[in-house]
Amino acid sequence: MTTKKIRSVFTVKNKKFLTPHLIRVVLDIDEDQKELLAHVQSGSNNKIFIPTDPEKGSEPIVRTYTNRKIDLENRELTIDFVSHGENGPASAWALHVNSGDSLEVGMKESTRPLVPDADFYLIVGDATALPVICAILEQLPSYVTAKVLLEVHEKKDEIMLCSAADISVEWLHNPQPEKGSLLAKLTQQTEIPLGILKKYIYIAAEYTTVRELRNHFKTILNWDPNGLYTCSYWRAGQSEDKLENG
Ligand SMILES: Cc1cc2nc3c(=O)[nH]c(=O)nc-3n(C[C@H](O)[C@H](O)[C@H](O)COP(=O)(O)OP(=O)(O)OC[C@H]3O[C@@H](n4cnc5c(N)ncnc54)[C@H](O)[C@@H]3O)c2cc1C
Repeated sequence: MTTKKIRSVFTVKNKKFLTPHLIRVVLDIDEDQKELLAHVQSGSNNKIFIPTDPEKGSEPIVRTYTNRKIDLENRELTIDFVSHGENGPASAWALHVNSGDSLEVGMKESTRPLVPDADFYLIVGDATALPVICAILEQLPSYVTAKVLLEVHEKKDEIMLCSAADISVEWLHNPQPEKGSLLAKLTQQTEIPLGILKKYIYIAAEYTTVRELRNHFKTILNWDPNGLYTCSYWRAGQSEDKLENG
């Protein structure tokens, strides 16, 4: 199947604070878009095009987010935004958006599962990766085990995670993620069970955490590259325009 790229303007149906630092924006999927999105998976990445000032000829600002849920039956596309203040256009947009506003979103069709088959998963992420991790956990089958390490601002930012798999979750609180994180340290201290044939490690977080963990697993532990995924979701002190994923 060829991967079709989709770009479409959606109308905001509603918005609410899921937790003090997570804003859920639900976009309405119309009849034409329902067909377009038939092969886009919940948990896949997207590009959102944040409107600037078209009268001045300014181009929209592009940011990467996660299609937290694509619900074709109820015709809803959900995106969860970490609320990190007014310093980023995407965070500011989510803070101020109202029902009836529009948002252009680009995405790709895909049939590949979010994570490959394994018996044990170690899944590590900060608040920006919560949407993709929730989607991954929802898609895991009942016969696998997952250890999940998550960092959010505070206790009130913890959310309920649903999975058929046998999951154990450890939450870390960090009110100032732009000033550093203990997530890499906690991950390195986490025991990975022995005697399991297929293990998969999934890491999505701030650049420094990801760099440290990539080095830990790849270079120090010589982890099988097929059993490791790492992705920097943002970088402290830099806007996404400048972020290079190394
Ligand atoms: C594949 C992928 C999927 C992603 N999915 C999601 C998602 O579903 N939800 C989500 O919230 N984010 C997600 N992100 C992260 C998001 O793209 C970044 O946080 C992005 O920088 C936000 O854009 P912005 O315009 O708000 O801030 P930017 O203009 O990019 O940055 C402005 C300033 O804000 C700081 N900043 C950016 N993000 C944060 C943060 N989370 N906490 C504190 N300071 C921050 C930057 O360091 C910079 O100093 C994803 C990233 C990737 C690569």
